[in-house]
Amino acid sequence: MKKHNFSAGPCILPQEVMQQTAAAVLDYDNGLSLIEISHRSKAFVDIMENARALVLEHLQLEGKGYKVLFLQGGASTQFLMVALNLLEKRAGYLNTGTWSKKAIKEAQIFDDIYEVASSENANYNYIPKGYDIPKEYDYFHCTSNNTIFGTQMKDFPECDIPFVCDMSSDIFSRQLDFTKFDLIYAGAQKNMGPAGTTLVIVKEDILGQVSRHIPSMMDYKVHISKSSMFNTPPVFAVYTSMLTLEWLKKLGGIASIEKINEKKARLMYSEIDLNPLFKGFATKEDRSFMNATFTLVNEDLKETFDTMWKDAGINGLNGHRSVGGYRASMYNALPLDSVKVLVEVMSELERKA
Ligand SMILES: *Cc1c(COP(=O)(O)O)cnc(C)c1O
Repeated sequence: MKKHNFSAGPCILPQEVMQQTAAAVLDYDNGLSLIEISHRSKAFVDIMENARALVLEHLQLEGKGYKVLFLQGGASTQFLMVALNLLEKRAGYLNTGTWSKKAIKEAQIFDDIYEVASSENANYNYIPKGYDIPKEYDYFHCTSNNTIFGTQMKDFPECDIPFVCDMSSDIFSRQLDFTKFDLIYAGAQKNMGPAGTTLVIVKEDILGQVSRHIPSMMDYKVHISKSSMFNTPPVFAVYTSMLTLEWLKKLGGIASIEKINEKKARLMYSEIDLNPLFKGFATKEDRSFMNATFTLVNEDLKETFDTMWKDAGINGLNGHRSVGGYRASMYNALPLDSVKVLVEVMSELERKA
């Protein structure tokens, strides 16, 4: 039986993408597997070009000076790479949770970092608002969706300096004016593909401003000059990501998936709010449409509830240890029906209890 996969990452991917990928691993190009063809072959160069074009098309960034890279090392490597490429004197960071904090820690290796605001005092259950971003800073960095705490930025600040955003867990899930951002990065494994590649979209004109020597593998300009093939690219992850982006296009793009994501989130949060046995973690106005965090009011029901959702074929519902309770991750590929199954289990618990 296929599982209802609410895992936070690596996460569910469209079933048809899995099937196409599986076939390509066996035979992609005249008896050669996808994972044994040369990355310099036309077959792979076409995949890479198509993947890059689809990214710009989905985000409506074509012809606006942005370059698309598929790198390795996860979003975690971007914490460091952003600082190496952009940080000369001082940068401003919005601290909204574990991932922001890790980004701050890596950047601190180089220079001065200033937290423009933080929600650490409330265990990151909200998004700070109304802070200033000093104009003299090199860049501003924020995390659009806080995967662990289940909060999401609904609005983004006005920003006159280069704007960097970690969109690992909500990229391609909602419509935004992506031209607001100068550098967007995202590990593939939350909404786009398997682990193994990290998407970077960067406006070329913000690069080349720092005085330090940047090692080649860490230098965005080097990767741009080699069309994201400076070294052997992660062919499997890039191909699977390309298929997911094609799947999204067939579905009607971000505008269509956003409507479905809203439906899933509304259904999930209305159950959390109406069912007296559960309590939401994040402040209502900042709730994430990707990761819903909630706890049982009465922990004595934990064993019963855990057995019930597991029996219903649900996977990956346990919350992160820093929040506890439960986390329902509802990424693009999770069907509305899976949310219906979970909500049904929650109401069943209420009837029983
Ligand atoms: C998962 C996640 C990361 C870390 O990604 P890796 O690819 O595992 O390094 C960073 N930021 C956010 C917002 C995430 O959800």
